[in-house]
Amino acid sequence: MSTNETPRGNGAIAKTQVEAGSDTNPTATSATPRENTAWLRCTLARRVADLVSADMVAAPPTMTVAPLAAPTSAGSREDRSCDRCGDYTPTGAMFWPLVCHPTPYIILIGGLCTLCKNLEEGGAR
Ligand SMILES: [Zn+2]
Repeated sequence: MSTNETPRGNGAIAKTQVEAGSDTNPTATSATPRENTAWLRCTLARRVADLVSADMVAAPPTMTVAPLAAPTSAGSREDRSCDRCGDYTPTGAMFWPLVCHPTPYIILIGGLCTLCKNLEEGGAR
C-alpha cells in the first residue's frame, strides 16, 4: 500500500470505515464505545510518530493512508500475518481488517487473527 493517498470523491470510504469501528475501538462492529488496548494505543502512537518523523504525512486536508506495520506484498504470507501477534492466517480463514483513525488526517490499516481481534474487542481468549 502506498502512503499519502488522497481519498477519491469526498472521502466517504475512509469515514465509513472509521465509523464502523469508532475512534475508541477500531475493530468493534457495534456502536458500544470501548477503550483501545495498551498494545493498540502504543502501536498507533509509534506508527504516527514514525510517519511524521519520516515526513510521510501529507499536509491536511489530504488524507494519509498507511499500513499499520511495515508494508508487505499483496498476497504474501506477511500480508496475512497478524499485526499484533505475528501469526499467519491461511487463505480461507478469516483475517480481520483493522482500520484505525489515530489523527484526523491519518488512517492506518492492518489485520488481526481471530484471537487478537477478540482481545481487541475485550472478548475471551
Ligand atoms: Zn494475532
